[in-house]
Amino acid sequence: MKINNTNTPPKVRVLIVGGGTSGWMAASALSAKLAGTGVSIRLVESAEIGTVGVGEATVPHIRHFNASLGLDEADFMSRTEATFKLGIEFRDWGRKGDAYVHPFAAFGRDIGGVPFHHHWTRAHRAGRTPAGGLDDVSLPIQALRMGRFGHPSPDPSNFFSTFSYAYQFDAGLYAAYLRSYAEARGVVRTEGKVREVALRDDGHVDAVVMESGERIEADLFVDCSGFRGLIIEGALKTGYEDWTRWLPCDRAVAVPCANDGPPSPYTRATSRESGWMWRIPLQHRAGNGHVYCSGFIDDDAAEAALLAQLENPAQAAPRRLRFTTGKRKRQWVGNCVSIGLAAGFLEPLESTSIHLIQLGIGRLLDLFPTSPVMDPLDAAEFNRLMALEYERVRDFIVLHYVATQRDDTPFWNHCRTMAIPDSLATKMELFKQRGVVTLYRDGMFLEPSWLAVYLGQNILPDQVDPRAALVADADVDRVIAAEIESCRRAASSMPLQSEILSRYRMQVPA
Ligand code: FAD
Repeated sequence: MKINNTNTPPKVRVLIVGGGTSGWMAASALSAKLAGTGVSIRLVESAEIGTVGVGEATVPHIRHFNASLGLDEADFMSRTEATFKLGIEFRDWGRKGDAYVHPFAAFGRDIGGVPFHHHWTRAHRAGRTPAGGLDDVSLPIQALRMGRFGHPSPDPSNFFSTFSYAYQFDAGLYAAYLRSYAEARGVVRTEGKVREVALRDDGHVDAVVMESGERIEADLFVDCSGFRGLIIEGALKTGYEDWTRWLPCDRAVAVPCANDGPPSPYTRATSRESGWMWRIPLQHRAGNGHVYCSGFIDDDAAEAALLAQLENPAQAAPRRLRFTTGKRKRQWVGNCVSIGLAAGFLEPLESTSIHLIQLGIGRLLDLFPTSPVMDPLDAAEFNRLMALEYERVRDFIVLHYVATQRDDTPFWNHCRTMAIPDSLATKMELFKQRGVVTLYRDGMFLEPSWLAVYLGQNILPDQVDPRAALVADADVDRVIAAEIESCRRAASSMPLQSEILSRYRMQVPA
C-alpha cells in the first residue's frame, strides 16, 4: 500500500461484486491487510447465479497467500478436501505414448558451472541418459510416482529444500472457508442480484442497484462477477483481447467421480484428439474434465469421451462450460478493478487461474488508493503489470500445444503448425539454437518449468554451452548416477501422502 502524505486513514469504501473464489480471496486479503486503515469492505453475491464451480489445481504460490492470511495448513486442507500437489503429469503431449512431469523443482545440478540441461542434452544425443529419463533426476517426480510426499526443508543446504509444492482442492469449499475468514474481519456480505450499474458523469462507477432496489455506493469497485464481467465489460465496455488464435480450445465439460485408491499427489493432463483431459485427485473424489475445441469436436462427443474414461461412475451430472481465452484490454478502469474470470481466462492446463487472482489482489494492495479519488497512474501500472503476467502465462501454455509432434488428428495438425505470439517464437528460437531459456526478473514460470516442457516434449537444443564439452563424459555420468541415487533414496524416505493426510486427521481411502 502506498504512503498517504496526510497521515489520515484513506476512508475508501470497497464493494466486491461476486462471491466465487476470486471474490472471497479478495475480501479475505483486503480485510486482513487493510485492517485499521478505515477502509470498509462489502461483498455482494447471488446464490441464484452461483459460481463457475470448477477450479481445483494450484501452483505453489497459493501457500504464500494462505500464509499471509495466517491460515493453518491442516485446517485449510481439511476444510477444502485438499491434497498435496508435486507437479503435473503430461501424457501424450509430445508424441502419443510419451509421459513427462512438470514438477515444482529444477532437474539436476550444475556441473562444472554449466547448467544441467546442457550436459543432459549432450548425454542424450550420445545415448547415455538413463532409461527413466529426466524423471530419475527429480526428487519430487520420484516421490509422486511412489505416492509419497514430504514438506520441503527450509534449510537451503538440505537436499529436501530443492522442491516446492502446491495443493489440489475444492475451490468452492475454499471460497466458503475464506468467507468465514473475511466475515470475521468485518466484511459485510449482501445476498442478491445486481440489476444495474449506475455510472457517474465522469464515467466512473457510482453504485450498483440490487434487484431488491437497494442502491450500494462505493469508491472502489472490485469486479469478481465471473465470465460476464458485470461492471468491467457490462457497464464500462472495456473490450476483450481474444487469444483464441493461439489457444483454440473454447469449451470444457467437468465431472467428479470417486478416487480409485488413495489420491495421488499430482495432477494429470492427457492430450486427446481435439483437446485434453484433466484428472485432479482430492481427498473425497477426483475432479475430471475435458477441455476441447468446438471447431473439431461437438459437445456430446466431448462429454461421451470424458465419461468413457472415468475410473468410477460419475458422481454428478457433467457440467458444460464455454469460454473465450484472453483478457480484458484494461483490467482496472476508472474506479473498477476486475479480478478472476471477470479479468480474463487462460485454460487450466498449468493451473494458473487462482494464481492470477492472487497476483491481481497483490497488485491491488500495492497500488491501493490513498483516497476515494482514484489516481489514473495506479490503474495504468496495474494494467501494465497484469498484462505482462497474463502474456507470460499465455506463452507458456501455448508452448505445450505448438511443441507437439502429434500429427494424428486435424486439431493437433492445426496446433503444431499455427502462428504463435512473437514473444514465444523468440523464446523458442533461443532455446532451439543454444539451449538458453529467457530469464524473467520475476514471474510465474521460471527456467525449470520451461525446461520441463521443452525436454518433456522432445525439444532439444541444436547446440549447447561449449563449456559442457570440457567436462569428461565419465564425470558427467558419475554426477547423474549419484543424483539419481540421491533422489531415489530421498523419495523413498518420504511418507506416503495418505499417512500425512491422516496425521492431519483427514479421512482418505486406504
Ligand atoms: P465465479 O466463480 O463465476 O464467481 C462469480 C460470482 O459473481 C458469483 O458469486 C456470482 O454469484 C456473482 N455474480 C455474477 N453476476 C452477479 C450479479 N448480477 N449479481 C450478484 N452477483 C453476481 N483455476 C485454477 O486455478 N485451477 C484449476 O484447475 C482450474 N480449472 C478450471 C477449469 C475450467 C473448465 C474453468 C472454466 C476454470 C478453471 N479454473 C481453474 C478457474 C477457476 O475456476 C476460477 O478462476 C475461479 O473459480 C474464480 O472464479 P470467479 O470467482 O472469478 O468467478
